[in-house]
Amino acid sequence: MKLISVDTEAIEQHYAVLNRIGPVDGDPDNGFLRAPYSAAETAAISYIQQVARAAGLNCRFDAVGNLIVATPGSFSAWVETGSHIDTVPGGGNFDGTAGVVAGLAALLAIHSSGTVLQRGLRLRIWRGEESACFGVTSIGSRAAFGRLDASALMHNYAGRSLAEAMLEQGADPELIRAGRPAIDKHERDSIAAFLELHIEQGKVLEACGKDIGIVTAIRGSKRSWVNLHGTFDHSGATPMGPEFRQDANLTMAYIMVRLDQLLRQANSEGADLVQTAGLVNPPQQPGSSLPLGENAITKISGAACFSYEVRGCDAESVESYCDRAFALIRETAEEFGTTVAIETFSDQAGIPNLNPELQKLMTESCMALDLSYTSLPSGAWHDAGTLAQQVRGDGTTIPVGMIFIPCYNGISHSPDERSTPLQIARGASLLATTMIELASI
Ligand SMILES: [Zn+2]
Repeated sequence: MKLISVDTEAIEQHYAVLNRIGPVDGDPDNGFLRAPYSAAETAAISYIQQVARAAGLNCRFDAVGNLIVATPGSFSAWVETGSHIDTVPGGGNFDGTAGVVAGLAALLAIHSSGTVLQRGLRLRIWRGEESACFGVTSIGSRAAFGRLDASALMHNYAGRSLAEAMLEQGADPELIRAGRPAIDKHERDSIAAFLELHIEQGKVLEACGKDIGIVTAIRGSKRSWVNLHGTFDHSGATPMGPEFRQDANLTMAYIMVRLDQLLRQANSEGADLVQTAGLVNPPQQPGSSLPLGENAITKISGAACFSYEVRGCDAESVESYCDRAFALIRETAEEFGTTVAIETFSDQAGIPNLNPELQKLMTESCMALDLSYTSLPSGAWHDAGTLAQQVRGDGTTIPVGMIFIPCYNGISHSPDERSTPLQIARGASLLATTMIELASI
């Protein structure tokens, strides 16, 4: 096995530039805002392009604006890596960006090693992975494979529709409108393997003191609004008890506690699921006619609403758990005399198994590089998940692997999100060593 080592200086050098692109109010301590298809995202991509070109790598953009960096030469098969460089508002500069920086450093290190490759190497910088702005996740990677629903183009952020934001950054929304992929079949079928390095966004690696997490699976998510209708009434004059009060907020509280008990039970029986009610009675809920604004201190609540998200790697177990959860929600609403409507607005299946051969190869590479490692599933969705869902012409799916690196206290989507140059460099060395092994076959 040929070992490629990426040094921390390379990582620090890229971060010195990227820390100046999109910090909130000009200060990285406030976090970053590089929205999908924004000028800041384009500027960060342009930096990567400039460095790659200067080192003799080829660069091009696909029709939806993803940057593709490739080693020179023509190959029938390619070993690829990639991640995203956009951020959530006020997020850190590591979620996504660490994978792009590591990918760039890996390609540069391999290229300068002068190794003769049997397969080419590519780095893809996917646009707009974060859903915080336009409400859709993995915009660039899904659009690349023709898997982005055209309705997403109408979603608005900062006074622009996604279609308008794309046009401003030189990308073509028409392809999405027509349901056509930006990557043609031949190019899709030439992807021999895809690896994504990402910060863990959790505390497992830090807690067990490991350098590397080899990702086994990716959680998908099913997201719904639970809308409850009760009866507005006088809070002083109405006696207690569901025969007198149809209290929407109280029903919601009971539902949440019972859902927590239901999920704990399901996990104790072997399921691996998480659930969250992230938004409660939001002031603006898209498409809702619930009179949430009429709730008051002196009124029994006539309306309540919460977002309900269930995540799991295995779509079937998410589905069967949601059936039980929805039944429990309906029973509880009935018990309290309220009516309920459950509206599922997003259903993204997880990836139950990332490619086992790639996991094995990454394990061997860790041992050869003397890096400590453990295996774990990914709680969050990633562009790698989109790749793992793509079926090639021969009926096989694209083999996908993921490398996690530790991040401070497991914090992500926050200005405190960070990984050290050493942590990123170790991950980049594993990425480079695994890619060169795959490219030498
Ligand atoms: Zn990410």
